[in-house]
Amino acid sequence: MPNTYQPDQIIRPEILALSAYHVPPAAGMIKLDAMENPYPLPLALREDIACLAAQAPINRYPDASATSLKAILRQTLAISDDTDILLGNGSDEIIQIIAMAVAKPGAVVMSVEPAFVMFRMIATFVNVQYVGVPLKQDFSLNIAAMLAAIEQHRPAVVFLAYPNNPTGNLFDEAAVLRIIQATPGIVVIDEAYNAFAEASFLDRLSRYSNVLLMRTLSKSGLAGLRLGFLLGSSAWITQLEKVRLPYNIGIMTQLIAEKVLHHADVLSQQAETIKSERTKLISFLATIENVEVYPSKANFILFRIPAASQIFQMLKQRKILIKNLDGTHPLLTNCLRVTVGTPDENAQFCATLHALLTETV
Ligand SMILES: *Cc1c(COP(=O)(O)O)cnc(C)c1O
Repeated sequence: MPNTYQPDQIIRPEILALSAYHVPPAAGMIKLDAMENPYPLPLALREDIACLAAQAPINRYPDASATSLKAILRQTLAISDDTDILLGNGSDEIIQIIAMAVAKPGAVVMSVEPAFVMFRMIATFVNVQYVGVPLKQDFSLNIAAMLAAIEQHRPAVVFLAYPNNPTGNLFDEAAVLRIIQATPGIVVIDEAYNAFAEASFLDRLSRYSNVLLMRTLSKSGLAGLRLGFLLGSSAWITQLEKVRLPYNIGIMTQLIAEKVLHHADVLSQQAETIKSERTKLISFLATIENVEVYPSKANFILFRIPAASQIFQMLKQRKILIKNLDGTHPLLTNCLRVTVGTPDENAQFCATLHALLTETV
């Protein structure tokens, strides 16, 4: 066929320049790379879910407004009536909905660096300019730089993960409030790690009309289900709802999430276990010479170690998969990120790391 286009003739150059989001194969590995909850649901609850699945009318489209799922979310999180909810196929999809909705020519989406990589990637997908303002050396907000960037770029959206990924820290509350007050557009507080954080902006949501709060069930135990949600005033949520595809939340996700939320205590107990394992893992890493371990309010720990990329590869050869951040940002040189697993997985990670360091150093 003579007159057909090659991909590089019609695909946008910024898409051609991207490399696809890489998910490493993990079969047979101790998987501590993706902030998943390592625990399954209790058997009785899984059996209830099996019954729900068996009876689900999958020949029909799902409830487009997910009314009963939203009701239980509202109840579980004590969300006030003046706050609206938008559901997404994971919070990734919500980031995309927000970015699409604001993607006017010249619009800017802003976050910090290093931040969750999807903020930048999704801005690129929808053709809006992304500005990443570097954090300080200790991963705290550089408030002067943020305020200057906000003034210069007048961002439509600022994304702040609280706690931040991949650094694990909570930003200073007063600094976040200053950013909220200075931003002409919306500030999305991404609380993906809320289950482990003991801090939230939920209580202050109604006080700041330009704040939207985003959460997900992924990190607390339902990563495979894909459910994220966004809370905010109806003025914003009504507009964003127009961009959401009508059936983005499938019937299985609606039924299962609703069932699990009726047993939310199961997830919070698992989160408690993960938090106490986090403490142990941090103490272990702190005892290793030459390792700098950063405080974490999430279910993962960032640490800096000499020859990090080599250590990462050696762990991988020994079937332990963590995340290598070395080379992804100047502030993350020699940094690795480990997700808190089960006590057994954590013990194996610690023992293997210890063995590697005493063999090679
Ligand atoms: C993991 C993560 C998300 C995305 O989670 P979903 O699985 O898409 O709900 C969003 N924000 C941050 C900061 C994350 O780390």
